[in-house]
Amino acid sequence: MAQDIVTRFAPSPTGFLHIGGARTALFNWLFARHHNGKMLLRIEDTDRARSTQEAVDALIDGLTWLGLDWDGEPVSQFSRVDRHRQVVDQMLADGTAYRCYCSPEEVDAMREKARAEGRPPRYDGTWRERSASEAPEGVAPVIRLKAPREGETVVDDMVQGRVVIPNKDLDDFVLMRSDGTPTYMLAVVVDDHDMGVTHIIRGVDHLTNAARQTLIFKALGWDVPQMAHIPLIHGPDGAKLSKRHGATGAEAYRAMGYLPQAMRNYLARLGWSHGDEEIMSLEDMIKWFRMDAVGQSAARFDFKKLENLNGHYMRATNDAELLGHWKTYLTHAEDGAPVLQWMSNPDNEKTALTALPGLKERAKTLVELTESASYLWRQRPLDSDEKAEKILTDEARQILRDLHGVLSTVPEWAAEPLETSVKAYAEQKDLKLGKVAQPLRAALTGRGTSPGIYDVLVALGQEESLGRIDDQGA
Ligand code: GLU
Repeated sequence: MAQDIVTRFAPSPTGFLHIGGARTALFNWLFARHHNGKMLLRIEDTDRARSTQEAVDALIDGLTWLGLDWDGEPVSQFSRVDRHRQVVDQMLADGTAYRCYCSPEEVDAMREKARAEGRPPRYDGTWRERSASEAPEGVAPVIRLKAPREGETVVDDMVQGRVVIPNKDLDDFVLMRSDGTPTYMLAVVVDDHDMGVTHIIRGVDHLTNAARQTLIFKALGWDVPQMAHIPLIHGPDGAKLSKRHGATGAEAYRAMGYLPQAMRNYLARLGWSHGDEEIMSLEDMIKWFRMDAVGQSAARFDFKKLENLNGHYMRATNDAELLGHWKTYLTHAEDGAPVLQWMSNPDNEKTALTALPGLKERAKTLVELTESASYLWRQRPLDSDEKAEKILTDEARQILRDLHGVLSTVPEWAAEPLETSVKAYAEQKDLKLGKVAQPLRAALTGRGTSPGIYDVLVALGQEESLGRIDDQGA
């Protein structure tokens, strides 16, 4: 494309980054990056009650966690209110907008009447042609668009195709409220124009707004940006994704132990595909992203699929990077503080890093990873869970006493020589390997299941391992 592409993500602060919003941001970002363009961030913070600093921070935090960045500083819509007023003044001067002095009751009555007559509830244009001299005293007017009454408005949408809306269905809607605040419809158009937005990519729930906004762009003589209205995300039952399906905020997925790269990959595949590719690196996604490959039907959120994808990314991510994500997870996890505290000791961090290859093979999420790593920081003497308790019979404790001797004299404290020594002991005693490994696992981890037993020995080191064995064997 010859034109320099500018997209924007324009969330309203609601207190968190909704998963649907995250996917909208991702599509804007992929489209912009694919075309070497820009993605801008505009915070639609005109609802002052909801637009607290915390709510804005939560949006930025969600985007940052997902690894999505934007060009330039975030734009505050509220801060542009003077410019919005200026544009409305210009429209009044040009005759493309007019003052309407109807009271809210009159407008309601109008709508009722239309409804009763089987017409869509629309403003009837009472003040469209009336002169200001007829204005009732002491009434602050709203300002309405003088919309065309004939013809149709066309939205040539990159995803939805050619959408035609008869102008009679789009009434003279309000641009500025009687208290002088601009409506969402007006503010979005002015901001998109002033920010040089070439492509508006957002949820299909904004499609009817698109027609109204097109009318404003045209009334101002401005180019209408290209639009792409992407399908919504549904829950597994086919209804619009909501709280009852489970978490809807990006931060909740972080708390459930998902990796940002898995989340990104999963969200990208919600509504967009590239052949049969399920696993896509960021580079691939940027290279392959095409708006015309975005489907029209709603995508269903499949929690199982996300979990499997996450498991893949856990295994595929190198240990140092995974450790970073683990710490981020712990920072936000309810019971993460003591673990982080333990990890703040460099020796312990090294231990965690040594254990990671074994841990990540089995865990689908960072929650599972933390649980199976917990043997690392639990203090001697370890509490045993029920399964471990069952394993630790008198016979098992005898085996532990023997193993204490065997493991005191291994030539080198590394997985292979440890395995060789334990196997040799089992053979010598004519015991199945499980008979030896299970008591060892119970003693070292206090659990009946754990990562590979040699990985556990290596991660704990000789001294701590022998100590734990001693606690149970003595
Ligand atoms: N602020 C709107 C929302 O959060 C989006 C507006 C737009 O993308 O045009 O739904």
